[in-house]
Amino acid sequence: MNRPDVRPLLLLNPGPVTLSARVRAALGGPDLCHREPEFAELQRAIRERLLQVYGLDPQRYAAILMTGSGTSAMEAMIASLGPATSKMLIIENGVYGERLARIAAIHGIPSVPMTLKWGEAIDNARLRALLDEHQGVSHLAMVHHETTTGRLNAIEPVARLCGERRVTLLLDAVSSFGAEELDFHGWDIAGCAATANKCLHGVPGASFVIARRDALDDDDIPQRTLYLDLATYCREQDKGGTPFTQSVQTFYALAEALAEFQEHGGWHARHRRYRALAEQVRSGLIALGIRPLLPEGASSVVLNSYHLPANVTYERLHGHLKTHGFVIYSGQGIYGKSIFRISTMGEITGADMQRLVAAVGELLR
Ligand SMILES: *Cc1c(COP(=O)(O)O)cnc(C)c1O
Repeated sequence: MNRPDVRPLLLLNPGPVTLSARVRAALGGPDLCHREPEFAELQRAIRERLLQVYGLDPQRYAAILMTGSGTSAMEAMIASLGPATSKMLIIENGVYGERLARIAAIHGIPSVPMTLKWGEAIDNARLRALLDEHQGVSHLAMVHHETTTGRLNAIEPVARLCGERRVTLLLDAVSSFGAEELDFHGWDIAGCAATANKCLHGVPGASFVIARRDALDDDDIPQRTLYLDLATYCREQDKGGTPFTQSVQTFYALAEALAEFQEHGGWHARHRRYRALAEQVRSGLIALGIRPLLPEGASSVVLNSYHLPANVTYERLHGHLKTHGFVIYSGQGIYGKSIFRISTMGEITGADMQRLVAAVGELLR
């Protein structure tokens, strides 16, 4: 065989996720040209289902589908919706908030950073003071679930401040879309970047932005990118087309994943399922003497970070669990040598998590 010999492993890293059999089977769908009506129908159905995840009105919001990983959706959102001359405030409490700032800098969008320690909760009084200080801020970009640490940033108080000051809110919800609450109307979200291969259980290669249609129509914003321009994608997709070749097979998989998602009860059901699995792992590891990085209630249901146990390196823990069929995830940056991360997305069960905790226990004994 012409591919590396990869054993079947359960992925507990934050995407890509372990696939269900039906999503994997969908990948082998028929060859299809992206200029044929069958593709237009596939794309239309996915866009409709993406809006249905949070019950959005297609007159007011558009789901814009692209080929690329989650970062392409982040970059498309910032480059396409970022202000023309005013400033974008960017909240940074982990790798992905910092990535938003890098994207803004690359596209020449003036920004005001709100820099926090990684994993720290957003201080809304400080945010209010920053907005008072920088009157030219028209946009605010932030990460919903900061996968660096597992911190679920509270959007509601930030959205309220944005509403008071008519600031446009842009979210990286790449690792929360489909499993955490996103109140598009209540929080007046103008743009939300996400991907197929995290909480929606599709494969990597398809990502999307949900954008408020009026935010897309802002003629003052210069076109900063050819490939990632959301207005271009949206115009073509509304007509059943696509500006460029899409990753047809990953779209098949996403359509199947969305059908499965709906049949299983939508985001509330997925939230409950992830929470049960995450709590099972968390209480199991705590019983083994392992300490979570964040206090109870601060993490998403998607991912939790833990301090490495004394005298166990990440490499040793990772290697041991891999021999038991699990792939876990390391920390990044300042947490590179001190934490590990466990995500409970994808096609995994409580019995799998029981085996995981038992395998950690075996290493520590
Ligand atoms: C995974 C992730 C991304 C995108 O990463 P890709 O490797 O480009 O898919 C962006 N933001 C957050 C919060 C993520 O967890």
